[in-house]
Amino acid sequence: MKYISTRGQAPELNFEDVLLTGLASDGGLYVPKDIPQFSQEEIQSWAELPYHELAFKVISPFVGDSFDEKTLKRILKETYTGFAHKAVAPLQQIDHNEYVLELFHGPTLAFKDFALQLLGRLLDESLQKRDEKVVIMGATSGDTGSAAIEGTKACKNVDIFILHPHNRVSEVQRRQMTTIKGDNIHNIAIEGNFDDCQQMIKQSFADQSFLRGERRLVAVNSINWARIVAQIVYYFYASLNLGGPKREMAFSVPTGNFGDIFAGYIAKKMGLPIKQLIVATNKNDILHRFLSKNLYEKHPLQHTLSPSMDIVVSSNFERLLFDLEDRNGEKLAELMEKMGSETVSLDEAKMSKARELFDSYAVDDQTTSDTIKEVFEQSEYLLDPHTAIGVKAARETRRDMNIPMITLGTAHPVKFTDAIKKAGLVSPSLPAHLSDLMEREEKFSVLENDLKAVHNFVEKTIF
Ligand SMILES: *Cc1c(COP(=O)(O)O)cnc(C)c1O
Repeated sequence: MKYISTRGQAPELNFEDVLLTGLASDGGLYVPKDIPQFSQEEIQSWAELPYHELAFKVISPFVGDSFDEKTLKRILKETYTGFAHKAVAPLQQIDHNEYVLELFHGPTLAFKDFALQLLGRLLDESLQKRDEKVVIMGATSGDTGSAAIEGTKACKNVDIFILHPHNRVSEVQRRQMTTIKGDNIHNIAIEGNFDDCQQMIKQSFADQSFLRGERRLVAVNSINWARIVAQIVYYFYASLNLGGPKREMAFSVPTGNFGDIFAGYIAKKMGLPIKQLIVATNKNDILHRFLSKNLYEKHPLQHTLSPSMDIVVSSNFERLLFDLEDRNGEKLAELMEKMGSETVSLDEAKMSKARELFDSYAVDDQTTSDTIKEVFEQSEYLLDPHTAIGVKAARETRRDMNIPMITLGTAHPVKFTDAIKKAGLVSPSLPAHLSDLMEREEKFSVLENDLKAVHNFVEKTIF
């Protein structure tokens, strides 16, 4: 399996090299050159498989010969038997023909564990084989940091530096990062905001000279293709559990960087019958405005009750645009350049093609809170604010009541107690493995909002 850049100028890579890279050298994102295809009969034959075995069927064609069959099977089994629910991704019914796919039974209680638990293990395997060490740097406003640290804490050849804005993440989220023990884990609280943190990460990737050519930087945000691959599996799992592939399904996806929903798009291309994919956003609704009005226009960041979806632009959307532009890298590079600085519209024909599959809907904080309350009153099911946005968008844009509607449950409500209280409900208690989180010892360093200070810290720590 070969991977190509969406901007057409970077070298083709295999899965393992893509795993160990961030952006392509031309500024694009890596995507598979060809998407593996499965017949309905073959997909049907997976109906009884437990999650990790299904994961092998779905993921192995993307991995190619980067990892041998036995190793990949072992890694997938280790990854998903570590989840707190035996079904790994259980479905909960909330109304007639309407479901939530619970993706929050991993160690950090958000769906990002599906990808980062796997990514950490793949990295570890690869780096030990190559006898190489790498540095992971990432910025987080919430869920990514803890999931990345949990995923890579056992990797001997990885040092991980996660930047978060000092005093601007919730206590549960901070403690989920700062209480994980390990000599290779380095939490840095920056005296600045999330954008400052993210800017420093971008600059570090662009100029890696502070690593003296001895180590490379690996990205753990959703531009890493290995993350997308892991997320394709649960679309198959949910569908097979509700009578697919004989029946079509609709999915509603709480969306930020467009990684999770892009995995659903790939599942469809692989042969899974998906009728509708709903892009559910909060007030940071650039994708909703684009899909509904064909106007791509950046607005300033707004802080909402669903912080993990607070974005200005969605990095993975480039991967969909690449397909809409008939995989023409040169044209896409031009388009991305334009989108960086001005308001852009697509050809109406291309937009119609996207709308055959995608719908979109934006939900404000008040409606998020109302939805949490409404669903709890109707079905005694407690939604987190991100999932609530998915459920609301599903109910507003559903095309066919006979097709099962599945909203991806992206986080456990206990992570967002403010939103639950705002809905007038009692927040649940932390699950057993985190019950002493508030008493655990924290470890993090506070640094000024200055790239040089961060680089000095990294150098001092690893050399
Ligand atoms: C990251 C995240 C999202 C958004 O996912 P994308 O892949 O960035 O679109 C939604 N909900 C929660 C809880 C998240 O952590």
